[in-house]
Formats: sequence, structure tokens, C-alpha cells
Amino acid sequence: MDQRRPLIAGNWKMYKTCGEAVETAQALKQLVSDVTAVDVMIAPAFTALSQVAEVTSDSNIQLGAQNLFWQEEGAYTGEVSPSMIVSAGCQQVIIGHSERRQYFNETDQTVNQRIAAAIKHDLVPVFCVGETEAERESNITFSVLDKQITTGLQDIALEDLATLVIAYEPVWAIGTGKTATSEQAQEVHQFIRSQLKEAYGADFSEAVRILYGGSVKPANIAELMAMEDVDGALVGGASLDAETFSQIVRYEI
Ligand code: PEP
Repeated sequence: MDQRRPLIAGNWKMYKTCGEAVETAQALKQLVSDVTAVDVMIAPAFTALSQVAEVTSDSNIQLGAQNLFWQEEGAYTGEVSPSMIVSAGCQQVIIGHSERRQYFNETDQTVNQRIAAAIKHDLVPVFCVGETEAERESNITFSVLDKQITTGLQDIALEDLATLVIAYEPVWAIGTGKTATSEQAQEVHQFIRSQLKEAYGADFSEAVRILYGGSVKPANIAELMAMEDVDGALVGGASLDAETFSQIVRYEI
């Protein structure tokens, strides 16, 4: 994976007031200021984005949103557009997180519209996919992922996918403390890369970053990152504390 630059991304979910988010970002900025070999991203709640951007703008930390709506503007009460996210200081956006799919009825089709909108606005889409426990037990993990990826990327041209990041997040491992073993992660990442090779060719599949997400912690990150096709992590719970998250970012140091 030498040609792929690792990305460690923190999803703060619905945690932290503006003040708490700024405080965590300031602490993280100090703790990772010397990190040069890894991309770092944090995704606070929408409400804290602008203030956190003021902290991260002169740092090596990129800012991400946790979602976006695909329309430019309009009567869509409660939604946030790609331009709004960009104007708040974001470079990246998490799309299709399993909690969005599970609690807010997001589908592969709406995920596709969100990815296309993100790309149009030069936002790096961090596209989440993953199977549920029941799907894994029924041995349909690969077909579930194939459908999520195929539909999620439908009608998006190869040249527009240059910055795409995929996050493999087995639903059964998110927030549960159950991490996929590094072998389980590698098996799925390799499958995803092979599907992308079939669809888009070897140059793309070798360059695209595939993150693992699901109870990543300082104690398991090095083992996961040692896998050939694991290019980083999307971290939930363990990203909320600056010191803990910095240990994940610094897995190699
Ligand atoms: C996530 O929210 O993307 C996630 C992986 O959460 P956790 O690390 O808490 O399992």
C-alpha cells in the first residue's frame, strides 16, 4: 500500500457542543502537529464546523462534515447543502454512514446523489459501506457490499472519482467494541479493491483508499494498518478524546 497515503478520520457523531469541539480540536492540533506521513480528518457536528475550521485551518488536520444534502438550496428544512459545508471550511464529507442508513432511511440511491453532489463541490467523499451481523451470518457480505458500491457510484465518471475514499464499516462492529479481525478486514478490503478493478481498472483500484471502521482503538490500529489493503481508519468513539485519537493517528510513531 506504499502508494496510498494513510487517512485516519474521526467521526464525532452527535457529540460535543461548539465549545467542546473547539477544545478537542485545539488539543488534537498540538498532539498531531508533527505528523506528516498520515492524513488526519475530524468530522464534528454541523453546528461546530465553522468554529473548528478556525482551529484547523493552519494545521495538518482536515475538516469533514458527517453528511450533506444534494440540492444546492431550497425549501428543505433542516438540511445542509454542499456549498454550506464548503463555506464552513470542510474539505471532506462522510456519506452513507450506517447510522444514517439505519435511522434516517438513507438508501444506496440517496447515497449516490450525495456522492455526486460532494464531487461536484470538490469535497472528498468518504463513502461508507458495510454489512449487518445478519448479512454476515447469511454469507451475503460480498453481495451486499457489491450492491452498495455499484449503486452508490452509479453514473459517476471515473475521472470524477479521483479523490474518493471508501470506508468499510461492518455494522456489527460499530460502537459495539467488536472489531473485525485484521484478517476479516483484509478479506473484505481485498474484495472491494477487486470489484473496483473490474469496474474502473487497475490504476484506480490501486490508488483508491479503503478505510476500516468499527471499534478502532489505539490497541488494534497497528494490526489493522499492517494489512495490505487497509489504508486507514474511520474512528467513532475513540476519536472523541484528543489524546486517544492522537495515539491512533500516531500508530506508526
Ligand atoms: C463510526 O462511527 O464510523 C465508527 C466506526 O464508530 P466506532 O469507532 O465507535 O465503532
